[in-house]
Amino acid sequence: MTTMFDKILIANRGEIACRIIHACREIGVPSVVVYSEADSKALHVLQSDEAVCVGPPAPLESYLAIDKIISAAKETGCDAIHPGYGFLAENHEFAQRCKDEGLVFIGSGAESIRLMGNKVEARQMMIKAGVPVIPGMHASAADAALFAEEAEKVGYPVLLKAAAGGGGKGIRTVQKVEELESALEGAMREAKSAFGDDSVYLEKYIDCPRHIEFQVFGDTHGNAVHLFERECSIQRRHQKIIEETPSTALTPETRIKMGEAAVKVVKACNYSNAGTVEFLFDKSGNFYFLEMNTRIQVEHPITEMVVGVDLVVEQIKVAAGAPLSFKQDDFAQTGHAIECRIYAEDAASNFLPAAGTIHYLKEPTGPGIRVDSGIYSGAEVSVFYDPILSKLIAWGPDREAARKRMIEALSEYVVLGVTTQIDYLRDVLGHDEFIEGRTYTDFIPTHMPEWSPAVTDGDNLPFVLAAGALASQLSTRANVSAGDGESGMPTPWETVGKWEIGMGS
Ligand code: ADP
Ligand code: ADP
Ligand code: MG
Repeated sequence: MTTMFDKILIANRGEIACRIIHACREIGVPSVVVYSEADSKALHVLQSDEAVCVGPPAPLESYLAIDKIISAAKETGCDAIHPGYGFLAENHEFAQRCKDEGLVFIGSGAESIRLMGNKVEARQMMIKAGVPVIPGMHASAADAALFAEEAEKVGYPVLLKAAAGGGGKGIRTVQKVEELESALEGAMREAKSAFGDDSVYLEKYIDCPRHIEFQVFGDTHGNAVHLFERECSIQRRHQKIIEETPSTALTPETRIKMGEAAVKVVKACNYSNAGTVEFLFDKSGNFYFLEMNTRIQVEHPITEMVVGVDLVVEQIKVAAGAPLSFKQDDFAQTGHAIECRIYAEDAASNFLPAAGTIHYLKEPTGPGIRVDSGIYSGAEVSVFYDPILSKLIAWGPDREAARKRMIEALSEYVVLGVTTQIDYLRDVLGHDEFIEGRTYTDFIPTHMPEWSPAVTDGDNLPFVLAAGALASQLSTRANVSAGDGESGMPTPWETVGKWEIGMGS
């Protein structure tokens, strides 16, 4: 019998901090959140049982300040820390420090995090374990001649990648040898400033692949399972914006093979807790290990919807020493789930991050709809952090049902005051190639090269803001016009067009 934690510190913010609060409530463990001075009124603070301010807005002085976070945990009587994703989640020094301080890090051991945090070391380990990797260098280097030699071997185009990279950052395409030297200098400089490590290596550029990853779970008793795949090929700047499961590309046989390879990865690095093994899947149906993310993944909810487990609750139990509560044979994929990441950014201006006050928010509801949100009407969206606001998840008995529910839910989703890419997401979901399941990582540049919203909201902004403010101050009822499926989607401007002032209540 394992003993559950007394109290858990959540070292994160935004939607994932709120998600972890829910998991803690579900198992009856009190939680404490940390926050920066920019976040004193953030949703995770408002929802928390207890909150500790850990410093100024800059992440290095707050959410990444290891000493302050450890002190906050100790002062509030926590015996475990959940890092969420981003920030300290894949920092092996932090995981080790927690252990040294007698706190349980809710994740894998420091050594497996360190190994998998370095894409070059991870590749070496996969080769040993017999898992296919993308052709390319087996060690990082700084000598342009070595890169030229390797590029010649695998053939152009090639990618330069930061060994410590993540979040789609630190990746450069090189088309021909003439570009190599300056690209290498640039890549090293960029890697140094983004990750504090200038190690760069080279990989063959796989033409129009799909990104297909497997959710995996290990425990401290040597058990390892996978919970099937998520396809995340719809990306901008190498970062996912729409994910779905099951993938339209996998046959049952390939699914079994990739699942077995993913479990091999877990065993090879002695991994415990939730993780994700990412693969690239080429047009001939070959798959290659891409990297492993040693944490809860942004898109974990689609797996939860289709497999029927709570991954965050399981993370906590496994970290407390419990064996996995499921076996490989327990799982089946039921129905289809799609997730859209809702970002504060302008899809019409190269996805430039946006900031401001959310004057009015209406989140969609309905059968099969889940919103993992980090915002509310009145919340401030600052420029200090990742611009993810929330995640919208739609489940349906099959892909088309899930897709239609998603389009409907996006049409109902009203965020006023801060630019989001909701209209853009709806256009992707309505695109013929998406409908047909022809989703490759070049989807956005190929099929959505020049996008602009059907109606620009800018001209109407003063009215929209006034309407939003009115809506939240008076007890009004938004009589939102229903979206009519795929044609003539209402913009936020249209959806706030019909307001009905409630009389007497
Ligand atoms: P996922 O692989 O779960 O979809 P993303 O790649 O979109 O996640 O990244 C999720 C968050 O984690 C983002 O805030 C991103 O900037 C951050 N992140 C991911 N990897 C790293 C890393 N190696 N270093 C710093 N931040 C990272
Ligand atoms: P990160 O750690 O930033 O998530 P990944 O190695 O997972 O970096 O790659 C992110 C994305 O970049 C992939 O999902 C894919 O779209 C693209 N990518 C990475 N490596 C290759 C490659 N060798 N060929 C083609 N695309 C790639
Ligand atoms: Mg990745």
